[in-house]
Amino acid sequence: MFLDMLYALLNVEVRTLIAVLFWGNLISVLLILSYKFFSPDLQDRFLFSCYSVAKFLQAMAYFFLFFRGVLPDIVSVNFGNTLLMMGFCLEAMSMLIILQVRERAPYLLLLAILGIALLLFNGIEFFYPVSSIRIVSASFSVFLIMIIPNVKILMTKKNIGMLKRVIGGFYLVFSSLLIPRAVYALFHDISLSTNAFVQSLTFISLVLLMVFGLSAYLLLMKENADKLIYAMANMDYLTQLPNRHKFFESARRLFDQNQRGGTPLCVLFLDIDHFKRINDRYGHPFGDKVLITLADILRKNLRSSDLFCRYGGEEFVLVLHNTNMENTAPVTARIMNEVAKARFPQCQDADFGFTVSIGVYGGFPGQKDVLEDFIEKADKALYNAKHSGRNKAMAYTESGIG
Ligand code: GH3
Ligand code: MG
Ligand code: MG
Repeated sequence: MFLDMLYALLNVEVRTLIAVLFWGNLISVLLILSYKFFSPDLQDRFLFSCYSVAKFLQAMAYFFLFFRGVLPDIVSVNFGNTLLMMGFCLEAMSMLIILQVRERAPYLLLLAILGIALLLFNGIEFFYPVSSIRIVSASFSVFLIMIIPNVKILMTKKNIGMLKRVIGGFYLVFSSLLIPRAVYALFHDISLSTNAFVQSLTFISLVLLMVFGLSAYLLLMKENADKLIYAMANMDYLTQLPNRHKFFESARRLFDQNQRGGTPLCVLFLDIDHFKRINDRYGHPFGDKVLITLADILRKNLRSSDLFCRYGGEEFVLVLHNTNMENTAPVTARIMNEVAKARFPQCQDADFGFTVSIGVYGGFPGQKDVLEDFIEKADKALYNAKHSGRNKAMAYTESGIG
C-alpha cells in the first residue's frame, strides 16, 4: 500500500515536470538578479552572475526540451541538452566558489567533463543517432558534473562545518537518482517522450536538485556572510587575533569560572618597546609586520586554554588560566626569547630586532575582584617595567617596585 502510494507520487508525467523545471529556473534567475541589482553592498557579484547565468541556461534548456517534436530536433535535443549541461557545469562551479575552493583542478576537471560530454552527446547524434545512447551519455555527464563539488566537500578532512556536509550528502543522493535512467537506457530503447518510471524519477530528482540547490546556495551564502560579520565584529583585522570586545567576553567568563572554582589566573600586559621609533624609521607597513610577527609568537607559545588579544595599538593582553604569579616566569621568558630571535628579511637593516615589556598581575580572584582590576594592575606593572629600562617582565607589587 505504502509502496504503491510512493510509486504514484514518483510516477509523474515527464512533460509536466519539464514545465516545472522551466518555470522554477526562470523564477530563480529573476530572484537572483533582483538581489544582485538591488543589494547595494553585495560582496560576491561574480558568484551571483555565474549562478544566474547557470539558472538561465537551464531555464532555456528546459524550454527547448519541452517543445521536443514542435521545434526541430537540432534545437530541442542538441541545443537544449548542450545548454543544460553548460548550465549544470556553471552551477557546479558556483558551488565550488561558495565553498571557497581556490585550487584550479576541480574547475578544470568540470570543464574537461563538460567538453567531453558535449562532444559525445552531439557526436552520437551525428554518427549514431539512437536516443537511448544519447540519454546514457547525458545522464552520466550531468551526474558527474553535479557530484564533483560534493565529493570535494565530503572528502575534505578539515573542519568545514556540518551544513556543508549535509548539503553535499543531499546533492549526492539527488544526483544519484539520475543513474537508474542511464542504466535503463543502456538496455531499453527510450526517448524523452517515453513514459517510463525511471524517466519520471530522473525528472523528479532534477526538480529536487533545483529546489534544494537554490535553498542550499542561499544558506551557504548566508553562512559565509555570517562568518564574515562575526570575524569583523570579533577579530582584529591586522593580526587576526581576537579584538578587545571578544576578549572581554571570553575573559570575563574565564574570570568568573576561576572565581567560583578557586583557581588562580594571571594577566600579562605586553607592549612593544619604542614602537614609534620603529614606525618612524622603517615605515608604518613594516610596523604592521612586526605586530603580525608578535601575534604569531603569542599564538605559538600559549596554551589553548589561555586567552589573548590585541588590546590596542601595539599592546596585547594575555590571561593565563590556572596559573599563579610564580608560574608566569617561564612563559614571559619564552615570549621574550622568541621576540629576540625574530628576524625580518624584508627590513633594510639586517640586524633589526625588537623587544617587548611585560607587566604581570595574578592570583586567586576574590569575591569582590573584577577582571578590570587585574588588567589595571598588570598595566601598572608594565609602566614600571618601561620605567626601569624596558625589555623586561615585571610583576605588580603594592609598593610599585616589582
Ligand atoms: P614605549 O616603549 O614607551 O612603549 O614606546 P612606544 O614608542 O612604543 O610608545 P607608544 O606605546 O606610545 O607607541 C605606540 C605607537 O604604536 C604609536 C602608533 O603610531 C603605533 N601604532 C598603533 N597602532 C598601530 C598599527 O596598527 N600599526 C602600526 N604600524 N603602528 C601602530
Ligand atoms: Mg603602547
Ligand atoms: Mg610601546
